[in-house]
Amino acid sequence: MQKVITLKDMCHVTKTAPMAAEVHGGRAKCLQRLIRLDMPVPTTVALSFDAVRAIAGGAAANLPDILRHFGENPLLSVRPSSMDPDWGGPHAILNIGLNDIKHAELCKTLGEEVATRLYMQYIQTFAVEVARLDPEEFYLSDHPSADALQAMLHTYETEMDAEFPQDVGEQINEVLRSMSRTWEGTTARLLRQAKGAPADAGLGLVVQEMALPMGAGVSGSGVIQFASGVTGEEQINGRFVPQMLHAEGMRDNDHALFLTRDPRGPSLEESAPDVFQQLLKFGAIARIKLREEMEIKFILRDGVLTILDGIRIDRSNRAAVRIAVDLAVSGVIPKEEAIMRVKPAALSELLHRQVDSRAERDVLVTGIAASPGAASGRLVFTASEAQASASRGEACVLVRRETTPEDIRGMHAAVAVVTLRGGITSHAAVIGRGIGLPCIVGAADLDVDERKRLISGPDGRVFKAGDMVTVDGSTGQVLVGEPKMLEAALDDAFQTLLTWADDVRDIGIRANADTPADAQTARNFAAQGIGLCRTEHMFFDGDRVDLMREMIFADSPEGRAAVLERLLPLQQSDFADIFQIMDGQPVCIRLFDPPLHEFLPAGKAGMRELADLLDVPLAEVTARVEDLTEYNPMLGMRGVRLGITVPEIYEMQARAIFQAVVACQKNGRTLVPEIMIPLVSAKREVELVQAHIEAVAASVHSESGVDFEYRLGVMVETPRAALRAEDIAEHAAFLSFGTNDLTQMAYGLSRDDAGKFMSDYVKLQVYEEDPFHTLDLEGVGELLQLGAERGRKGRPDVTLSICGEHGGDTATIAFCRAQGFDYVSCSPFRVPVARLSAAQLAL
Ligand code: PEP
Ligand code: MG
Repeated sequence: MQKVITLKDMCHVTKTAPMAAEVHGGRAKCLQRLIRLDMPVPTTVALSFDAVRAIAGGAAANLPDILRHFGENPLLSVRPSSMDPDWGGPHAILNIGLNDIKHAELCKTLGEEVATRLYMQYIQTFAVEVARLDPEEFYLSDHPSADALQAMLHTYETEMDAEFPQDVGEQINEVLRSMSRTWEGTTARLLRQAKGAPADAGLGLVVQEMALPMGAGVSGSGVIQFASGVTGEEQINGRFVPQMLHAEGMRDNDHALFLTRDPRGPSLEESAPDVFQQLLKFGAIARIKLREEMEIKFILRDGVLTILDGIRIDRSNRAAVRIAVDLAVSGVIPKEEAIMRVKPAALSELLHRQVDSRAERDVLVTGIAASPGAASGRLVFTASEAQASASRGEACVLVRRETTPEDIRGMHAAVAVVTLRGGITSHAAVIGRGIGLPCIVGAADLDVDERKRLISGPDGRVFKAGDMVTVDGSTGQVLVGEPKMLEAALDDAFQTLLTWADDVRDIGIRANADTPADAQTARNFAAQGIGLCRTEHMFFDGDRVDLMREMIFADSPEGRAAVLERLLPLQQSDFADIFQIMDGQPVCIRLFDPPLHEFLPAGKAGMRELADLLDVPLAEVTARVEDLTEYNPMLGMRGVRLGITVPEIYEMQARAIFQAVVACQKNGRTLVPEIMIPLVSAKREVELVQAHIEAVAASVHSESGVDFEYRLGVMVETPRAALRAEDIAEHAAFLSFGTNDLTQMAYGLSRDDAGKFMSDYVKLQVYEEDPFHTLDLEGVGELLQLGAERGRKGRPDVTLSICGEHGGDTATIAFCRAQGFDYVSCSPFRVPVARLSAAQLAL
């Protein structure tokens, strides 16, 4: 016997009916809410997910139970009601119940042409969407007539070998069966799963009495919103489409009315002022009771209002922030809920210009999205071209195989950067994020001919210097041309939300900031200090790179000291600027980290230029470059190893820091700088550097007569440092985990080369995610946990933090909170995202 859906799977939607979005879907639940608010919602019956599943499996709906709610010869609609409207679903079917008798009735009330058009529209929908007949056979002409209707009914009969069903029960059965099966189909399944629906997502169906938007008085259908979906500001948007019954039919139904008074034409406010006032009242009630900005769909028949649906308005990220804040400010929701309603990742979109989601995208190539935001500019291939372009006031996009310190100036001059090589922690990526420059790295499918100044995409299209491209650093796409952009939106709502977030969060958020400009950005985003100042980035800029090169070429300690003497005031003035900008907030300065060879030119031309500059033979430059070349520079002579073997560099940096502190203190500002030693793997390294730094501090103190304090700490970025954190912490006031190097060394993965196979690895699920992007909580996380525990054993009050690129990520912040870390540090533009994530974790 065929299974029949029982009463419990169906629900007449009333104020008190037991209903839930998880059982009947969001639309059904929302209709119940509107009924509870005394809105004029037509009679509705909701079928649960289970009922619809059973119907798809062949069970029959219990029709008498459904139909008894609707009176004699009803006209009905059936609409989908899934948990999330974004998951899609079958189209709504309207006017179910139309048959020959109903048609004759409607001819009397609406006129023959209107009634016949309605009937034919319904037969067409039923034939195509429900009976799955060929749409070509059910063409709807502009002039419906009795003959055309008969011809259509005849076509149906011929195709189906049966008459068009005249019984409302039979019609509704077919509609329910077809809609439930559509939901189970593979295409619908894949589409909704792509939007995040679980594999077993259910569909509810809502059977509702039709409200026909036609009559002799003001009639039609409309939709009204009470806030802008683009900006979130309160404003009335929407449209009303009147359906006028003229002798010739409904010709005017494509002339929508404005909702509010408008000089450009008639409005609903003028045509039906009472209805308009009623809608405003419903909007206000819905906002307060449903605690949301809603969009209301309505029908007017002879001036009588029926509410068909009320859904949360679709909104941009910017609008989501404004709406959440406004609802909290007006007391509709608590501040905590406003904080929870905004996705942290959405904030990142507001901080940068973005390609308008409605714009067409002509994608040339896709690489790794390394620094968010989008910018359009003309192609350039060298840093000097970029600078020339900027000096002409022309926006340019710098394309390089990979960037080197020499490209810094070019990066500052460009509006965006693309590199063919490198991963998420490569030089270009780190600098890009630091200065808020859209950046794509690892665009390996792009071919570059630097000599001819051409690039070609994987589809063979070629672009030359000067051609316009757009870099979308949020998606990793290089686009051809200049699509429409949306501006950054750091408005008052954004600031308010973050201030509320700061009140509830319980972990510090600092910024990685290398220059005074970065520090200013960090400050603007209310970072609570600098967690990592990579001092080598200060050497990349301007003439300093040349000074560094001179230092590298100096062949005696005295020669080196002489050059460092010239670098000292430059460093000191940077530190003084940063201290001033940070205004007493902590500043953690990492001593010089990279291998020296990074400062030397790679190509012949660069070497020749350097030979000129230093006034030495080219062979000497080549020999020095060769001398400094290492098989594996990231594991070679860098960080503290350089600090110990060439101590003059760290001494100069310590002196610059202390002299800047003394100058600050003389100006009445007390501050305790934090000095961090990179790439430590043994306690003895810390002891040796500590001794040098103490000596410099003593000497600055005796020269200046000023007392000052400082904190010395260690960057934990080798696995051994994590394992030996207990004895290392004896000499370290703080331990900051450098998860870029720690990930590199824990996996034995080169952070600069792994991009080549990372996407294959993630596709094959060897790694769930790129571990340079998403912290590997299982493996690297265990090192952090061990390091923190052991560090605390060595020094119970040791300050713990993380400063790798993972620092702003929600899962990382959650992990660090759980381990009782004091703060996380991330690039300045991620600070707002981190502030919101941390607050949500604390709630
Ligand atoms: C790290 O290794 O995590 C780090 C922050 O330092 P860098 O990226 O400069 O090596
Ligand atoms: Mg490092």
